Amino acid sequence: EHFEIIHFVKILINESKVTLKKEQQISFNSSLLHLIVNLDAKLLRRIITNLISNASKYSVVNSIINIKIDKNKDKVLIEIKDSGIGIPQEEQDQLFNRFFRANNAINIEGTGLGLNIAKHYTELMGGTISFESKLNEGTTFCVELPINNNE
Ligand code: ATP
Ligand code: MG
Repeated sequence: EHFEIIHFVKILINESKVTLKKEQQISFNSSLLHLIVNLDAKLLRRIITNLISNASKYSVVNSIINIKIDKNKDKVLIEIKDSGIGIPQEEQDQLFNRFFRANNAINIEGTGLGLNIAKHYTELMGGTISFESKLNEGTTFCVELPINNNE
């Protein structure tokens, strides 16, 4: 289905502000004013809310979560950046596994499913999900999706 993704993500951000447990801020940036995409809105909503939930959960009080949308040729890039606890280097290759939880997250509630679902849904729409993370510095997730996915 066709929808305008900038507005769509802004709504998701406003919704998640209500559920953020901590005093955190979300900043939104995009070089685009509008971008019509042809994607499954339900899947995209779940991907983004899972990533925002993690960015919040694995960050300290009063930190800022940065969300960015860009376009590169026929792809839309959605970036979610936190300055939280990070992911230990030696565990990073297991991150998308079902039920995986990193060592530094064991005291934080979670089931280890959110990222596995996000990856699965991203791939259902012909996209890719990647991340960069440094322990105790923060994590950035990037979801890259075809603007026009016909599946
Ligand atoms: P839930 O199923 O409720 O989302 P969860 O958050 O533990 O539980 P995932 O979202 O799949 O599960 O994340 C898996 C693991 O990856 C987390 O337990 C945590 O160790 C690590 N992780 C995910 N996102 C981040 C992040 N932004 N910063 C630091 N660690 C993260
Ligand atoms: Mg999660």
